[in-house]
Amino acid sequence: MEALKSHAIVKTHELALKGKNRPWFMRKLTDNLRTATRGSGVERVWQGQLMVGLTLEDEDCWPEVKSRLKDVFGVAKFYKAYDLPQDLDGLKARLPELLEGRSFESFRITTNRADKRFSLNSTEVNRDLGAFVKDLTGAQVKLKGPDLSIYLDIQTKGFLVYFDEVKAHGGLPVGVSGKVAVMLSGGIDSPVAAWQMMKRGCQAMFVHFHSYPLVDRTSMEKAVDLVEHLNRHQYQSNLFMAPLGEIQKQIILSCPPSYRVVLYRRFMVRITEVLARRNRAKAIITGESCGQVASQTLENIAVVDQSAGMPILRPLIGHNKEEIVDMAQNIGTFSTSILPDQDCCTLFVPKHPETKADLDTVLRLEEALAVEELVQEAVKNTERRHFASPEAAKLAK
Ligand code: ATP
Ligand code: MG
Repeated sequence: MEALKSHAIVKTHELALKGKNRPWFMRKLTDNLRTATRGSGVERVWQGQLMVGLTLEDEDCWPEVKSRLKDVFGVAKFYKAYDLPQDLDGLKARLPELLEGRSFESFRITTNRADKRFSLNSTEVNRDLGAFVKDLTGAQVKLKGPDLSIYLDIQTKGFLVYFDEVKAHGGLPVGVSGKVAVMLSGGIDSPVAAWQMMKRGCQAMFVHFHSYPLVDRTSMEKAVDLVEHLNRHQYQSNLFMAPLGEIQKQIILSCPPSYRVVLYRRFMVRITEVLARRNRAKAIITGESCGQVASQTLENIAVVDQSAGMPILRPLIGHNKEEIVDMAQNIGTFSTSILPDQDCCTLFVPKHPETKADLDTVLRLEEALAVEELVQEAVKNTERRHFASPEAAKLAK
């Protein structure tokens, strides 16, 4: 018998598949899977019934394909599968080969009959194949917690047989929810916030504020590393490096020290909003969590929100620091985030920043500043860096 062709079979969460967005969701997922696996030995990416299949050149490319699939949002779980003709006896003839090297005392068969024209229904197939596997191996059927799960999808074009489930992040394919502008510091929280929004289908653009040359470039270098890392989930990213130093100088000249942080933040938000609108992003994302530091009180959040003309979303608002650190470790950004840096926010920061900023006071203080000009000047001096995952870059050439 010739060797069976192997595939990766990708499944999404059922809920995400409901409604009229389903074809769009599946198309985007298929496109993203194609980009994510470029150069890894995938011959073809195709849409099946309630799943996406990736046909592998050979078995050897599975480890690389597996590691890439884990990073694709919208993928809830995936399997390595084999395709066979739509014929139960043919499958039985192949089963000894497919089960070779596996030791199990219990098993279950889960059949999904996507092609309703197939003569037996899924329960009948489960029974028939179950009896066969029991005779072949001596193992018992166990529906809950079996040693081995054997899946059979009856598709119009043939059977797909698969075993080992690999869990992925689920969520929505990047791109289906539109674009967001992430305020990315070099710290622990904002890369996690970005990751969470990407997981909900948002394409992220990144804005990093720096005070170079008042401080060194370390925070900028960290932002570059972080975007390079996060880019594995969206394949193309833009990082905007915006200068804040001049604005900070103006603020310390005319405003009391305790109000500096909240004023820096309002300027960051205004600049981010201009960049966001130019790039068709619809919301601003920060890594703030309630009460974590002096600037993240409800009062200060309200005063910062007042400077924005689009939603500011804070996906980490209800998380403890320990939880965020855990997430950063899982995502793989933690080791970069904890490298020492000179962040613009540490510049001219008072010992006791205001925790209950008052909007009237803030508005009065800003009257002494040329807000619009300062924002425009910072936007003009913002540098953009483009990132493409290596394989996507090859394609663009
Ligand atoms: P992080 O670990 O994300 O830096 P943090 O706990 O250090 O968070 P702050 O430094 O007060 O908190 O920043 C709160 C949020 O403001 C950050 O999560 C980020 O979204 C934004 N922010 C802070 N500094 C910068 C910066 N230099 N560039 C861009 N955004 C920033
Ligand atoms: Mg910070």
